[in-house]
Amino acid sequence: MIRFWSRRLYESNITEDTDLEKRLYVIKKNIKDKVKKKFAGSLAIRMVDSGSCNACEAECNALSNSYYDLERLGVYFVASPRHADVMLLSGVMTFNMTPYVKNAYEQIPAPKWVVSLGDCPVMQAPFELTHAINAPVDKYFEVTHHIAGCPPTPLEIMEGLLEFLQKI
Ligand code: SF4
Repeated sequence: MIRFWSRRLYESNITEDTDLEKRLYVIKKNIKDKVKKKFAGSLAIRMVDSGSCNACEAECNALSNSYYDLERLGVYFVASPRHADVMLLSGVMTFNMTPYVKNAYEQIPAPKWVVSLGDCPVMQAPFELTHAINAPVDKYFEVTHHIAGCPPTPLEIMEGLLEFLQKI
């Protein structure tokens, strides 16, 4: 009991993961600095689903909540590729979606970048041999950065975005 109250006193709410908080704080600070320096404080992302199970999108939705709060760092998900700097591509690049993904990419004004999200876009044999799947996506676009995972967690997506920002 004494140990509990002493931890409570020094670490405040002990149900929170303080290591995660510290890691997230550093990632947020670095993303904000890089977006300010390389995109004048505003990075627009067009998320494109090329045939996913929607779990990758669900994890991206979490980035807009008050905990991850990506918009406060200057990173926005936009509804039109014409307003985007980056295409964040999820899914296996199905045969039916391929022309629409290519069309979305063509509408993004240059300079533009592609970041692939999750294991689907880089999927290798045997799935890419089926008639319905056109993965891996690097056959169609130059992929600047890949964020691995199935699905990647919101923190992994933020780390991936930071790696992308450091790379360009
Ligand atoms: S990588 Fe995994 S979670 Fe993401 S779309 Fe593919 S199957 Fe779904």
